[in-house]
Amino acid sequence: MRYEAPDTLEGAVALLSGAPGEARVLAGGTDLLVQMRADVVDPALIVDIKKIKETRAVTEEKGGWRIGAAVTGAELKEHPRLKQVWPGVIEAANLIGSTQVQGRATMGGNLCNGSPAADSVPALIAAGAVATLAGPEGRRDLPVEDVMLGPRKLALKKGEFVVSFLLPPRPPRSSDAYLRFIPRTEMDIAVVGAGVSLTVDAGGTITAARVSLGAVAPRVLLVREAAQAIVGSRLERGAQDRLEAAARAACAPIDDKRGTIEFRIQVAGVLARRAALIALDRARTN
Ligand SMILES: Cc1cc2nc3c(=O)[nH]c(=O)nc-3n(C[C@H](O)[C@H](O)[C@H](O)COP(=O)(O)OP(=O)(O)OC[C@H]3O[C@@H](n4cnc5c(N)ncnc54)[C@H](O)[C@@H]3O)c2cc1C
Repeated sequence: MRYEAPDTLEGAVALLSGAPGEARVLAGGTDLLVQMRADVVDPALIVDIKKIKETRAVTEEKGGWRIGAAVTGAELKEHPRLKQVWPGVIEAANLIGSTQVQGRATMGGNLCNGSPAADSVPALIAAGAVATLAGPEGRRDLPVEDVMLGPRKLALKKGEFVVSFLLPPRPPRSSDAYLRFIPRTEMDIAVVGAGVSLTVDAGGTITAARVSLGAVAPRVLLVREAAQAIVGSRLERGAQDRLEAAARAACAPIDDKRGTIEFRIQVAGVLARRAALIALDRARTN
């Protein structure tokens, strides 16, 4: 196995696109190294992207925030302003693993590992985040909801990798929240995850919303019907009921020892509603 750590995007793309066998990007390694040790993957080339400045930076851009794909959860938590603007994204990234794992794990790795249960992905999708990719044909932007096609299947072409995520500018009175259900208190895979981002007007009516659900389908879902159910409302009981129903209707989960189909569908509605209520509360005071 060959290990390379280029310090430019072009260098990484050249290595990834020119590799004869399987090539893998290395960010924190908290999925990749575990999978290599378990012989799930056996790459001929590993390209560590952490020396590339753009993958490690957090910068303001056109009123929004650009977060490098190799920025760790622990670094995001320490950022002086991000938590105020995107508390849901930051809390989702910080649910990943233990303190030790958070010192390594990245949102790029969380997305590109291709798990429908990845914690930061519903929060990014709810936020309207766009992934910026670099590849042999240059750069392109892809909404995060379009990056993952199914378990372990990504829309990335050969030689492409995620450089960063762009979180859009925030209108006043906007906020977000992420909740997950796990059988234990921590260090477990989401049985259901729900991310909600919304904006309210001065009177407290929701003017825009995005709702995303994880672990209830082969890919993380953007549930437009759930967002439509609450836009124009003040999240009264009726709107909450419509949100729950729309969230449940979008689910097509698996049945396993950690949660039955019925349980996952039920919990998806509950978490979507609770995440929306938290986001609303935060937005009113933002
Ligand atoms: C003890 C433990 C607990 C965990 N708990 C959780 C949890 O609670 N919630 C959760 O969601 N996950 C959890 N995980 C899984 C893992 O920590 C996360 O998925 C993490 O975000 C992966 O990030 P990473 O930087 O370590 O990725 P890596 O392991 O470096 O990479 C993961 C995959 O993505 C690819 N990749 C990485 N970065 C890029 C990029 N920029 N562009 C293209 N491809 C890329 C790699 O080639 C690899 O296939 C846990 C893992 C462990 C070991």
